[in-house]
Amino acid sequence: MAAKRGPTPRPGILDIAPYVPGTSALPGAGPVVKLSSNETPLGPSPRAVEAYLAEASCLSRYPDGSARPLREALAKLYGLDPGRIVCGAGSDELLNLLAASYLGPGDEAIYSEHGFLVYRIAIQARGATPVAAQETDLTADVDAILTRVTDKTRMVFIANPNNPTGTYLSFDEVKRLHAGLPEHVILVLDAAYAEYVRANDYEAGIELVATTQNTVMTRTFSKIYGLAALRLGWAYCPAPIADALNRIRGPFNVTGPSIAAGIAALQDQPHMLAAVEHNTLWRGGMAEALTGLGLRVTPSAANFLLLHFPKANGKTAHDADKFLHERRIVLRRVDEYGFPDALRMTIGTEDENRVALEALTTFMGANGKSGR
Ligand code: PMP
Repeated sequence: MAAKRGPTPRPGILDIAPYVPGTSALPGAGPVVKLSSNETPLGPSPRAVEAYLAEASCLSRYPDGSARPLREALAKLYGLDPGRIVCGAGSDELLNLLAASYLGPGDEAIYSEHGFLVYRIAIQARGATPVAAQETDLTADVDAILTRVTDKTRMVFIANPNNPTGTYLSFDEVKRLHAGLPEHVILVLDAAYAEYVRANDYEAGIELVATTQNTVMTRTFSKIYGLAALRLGWAYCPAPIADALNRIRGPFNVTGPSIAAGIAALQDQPHMLAAVEHNTLWRGGMAEALTGLGLRVTPSAANFLLLHFPKANGKTAHDADKFLHERRIVLRRVDEYGFPDALRMTIGTEDENRVALEALTTFMGANGKSGR
């Protein structure tokens, strides 16, 4: 039979490996301990929930098209120019808008070897060529990135800290990276996990955006602010880049309830700081306890840990994943990030952390069997 003829996507689209989100449900009944998507265990601020619910009475109205009240709230909190902030449906949308505005066939864009997978997808979706730069100690390597720059390079994406490794680049290293890039290349600093970093040598990107013409910082309300379901992110850009993004984004790309909840979340800084404190405490405690079990844990500046499992039969990351699923605990498989021997674990509530630790203690202690 002749093959059916129908619409065909542009060249390259079908070469894209679809993004696979962290598992959120398991077969069977009962709750799941979900530590697979880097969500905050403290949830959103109650003030954000209240603001969201209050918007239910205005659902027939379009929101402010440029999310102006939210941009103004962000500008006030961080001391920024609201005209250079662009809001989006998650920072994912902003990463894609950047690629759509500046990349096309024949262009190259660089990301680090184990970098967040959305970059590669956004690059390929525009028909541009993704170029992976090797990392050193599972950390973006400035020299390796700079050696991959060619006259076709248009953009460099860095997650700082990176997902799924949790490693970060110091501000000095970020500045060195920027200084080595040609002026027409955009450096995208994806600071989705910025609030979690407790290191004196870290800067999310505001200073470089303010002082250069080719740096963009992206941020999100999905992580520390606990509003992942609303899909809310923002980018701080040089004015001409904000202008480009504003020309192609959907005219009402951020919803009214999201704008209201985002503003209220920003106003509840004590809630945000409590989430940082919880994370700092448990990130350190879990890293130490898991290392004590014989797992190698990559030092993390974010709200998750990358756990490297042995290769021995019965002890592998895949065995651990299965063992944990049987106990209704879900971590994140990271095979597609180049880590078939690792799982990524989000820092959860105290109870969730203890349950996961107990299960992994049993798993690592059980001698080469499935642990039962
Ligand atoms: N950047 C990084 C590094 C991330 O880990 C994520 C979430 N997985 C995002 C961006 C996207 O987050 P969102 O679209 O929810 O803002």
